[in-house]
Amino acid sequence: MTSELVLGQYPVATGYSEAVQADETDPLARFRDEFVNTDPDLIYMDGNSLGRLPKGAIDLVDAVVHQQWGDHLIRSWNEGWWTLQLELGDKLAPIVGASDGEVIISDSTSVNLFKLAAAAVRGRPGRTKIVTDDLNFPSDVYILDGVARVFGLELVIVPSDGIYGPVQGLSEAIDADTALVSLSHTTFKSGYTYDMEAVTALAHHSDAFILWDTSHSVGAVPIDFASAGVDLAVGCTYKYLNGGPGSPAFLYVRKELQDQLGNPITGWWGHADPFGFGLEFQPIDGIRRYHSGTMPMLSLAAVETGLDTVLDAGMDAIRAKSVTLSEYFISQTELHLEPLGFQIASPVDPRWRGSHVSLGHEEAYGITRAIIERAKVIPDFRAPDNLRLGLSPLYTSFVEVHTGIQRIREVVERGIHNEYGDITVTVT
Ligand SMILES: *Cc1c(COP(=O)(O)O)cnc(C)c1O
Repeated sequence: MTSELVLGQYPVATGYSEAVQADETDPLARFRDEFVNTDPDLIYMDGNSLGRLPKGAIDLVDAVVHQQWGDHLIRSWNEGWWTLQLELGDKLAPIVGASDGEVIISDSTSVNLFKLAAAAVRGRPGRTKIVTDDLNFPSDVYILDGVARVFGLELVIVPSDGIYGPVQGLSEAIDADTALVSLSHTTFKSGYTYDMEAVTALAHHSDAFILWDTSHSVGAVPIDFASAGVDLAVGCTYKYLNGGPGSPAFLYVRKELQDQLGNPITGWWGHADPFGFGLEFQPIDGIRRYHSGTMPMLSLAAVETGLDTVLDAGMDAIRAKSVTLSEYFISQTELHLEPLGFQIASPVDPRWRGSHVSLGHEEAYGITRAIIERAKVIPDFRAPDNLRLGLSPLYTSFVEVHTGIQRIREVVERGIHNEYGDITVTVT
């Protein structure tokens, strides 16, 4: 195996001057500098899995460690820690079209999904089904299946064509026996993005609850829970919100439902009098009842800078750049990669697409490993044959898209990926 890197061998391929011009007129260009970038040669296209580190988060976490933990110790709970997850929830609220007191940062996306799915099922006694689709993130399907088993319900997984959401199939599956419909807003593989309002209306037509997972859309795709009439939602903060590896997730419960539904993980953080230490659980009113236990303060604090950056840039500008970037990506792929056996495995119309694009290729695994190891392009691989490329509007440039595609092209033209097809790694 040779070890030389493939770096920008085709700097003036068709489309390059277009990219330079788009970067020069990009209204979000100044945000690139707000993120740590230790290697200008690295083309990072996995911000939909782990967002880059915002520079401001470094000082923030440093202060939490040194002053709040190191110096103030347990006094810090009364100096902001106890309510930080509510304050950050209120900060996140406008990004998803929610009001103050409707969002908290809490636990992981998986645990929040369990809590809210169980809450919904208990709120529709006598109903027998939970409905989802086969584009959902498999872990979400495992959790919905777990909830269905705990409560003795059936999980119905509506099949799709692998790219587009099966809206017709969902409308046939949702009926008077359905307690809950739960879907990914932007699906993790193809990037298909549901019409949140239309599908919420489908669920409500049968008086079922809707629970959206916005992990792959929040911070990249405009979301308006209020105008779509959404009941319940969850989402990651470590993807397009740049909150840091394993940063706690968020959950949303529409105000009118908060006291009507209950959190099945009844811990002291959701108690009306947590320091009364009585043995009977008394839920506190409002969104705080969806808490269970002590928050991880270091990773919770780190979420704030990413939220500030998204609020500063504004969701309309973020979406506009996301669409232009992905349209450019697709046009470059058609030109330079389709002749090498790649196919677009995402919706081509941007109305139905989030901020990542999937490319199908028979040798996608070897190509992913080769471009990471030899061309400093980082996408990820989704079995069996997908390269997934995330375009993060706050820090991905048009020239990076251009150069990234040229590097992929050279790796495949030179057959370098053939050296990597059998090398396995744990996290793909
Ligand atoms: C990333 C992602 C998750 C991750 O859940 P964790 O609990 O943080 O591991 C869940 N659901 C969807 C749809 C995701 O995209």
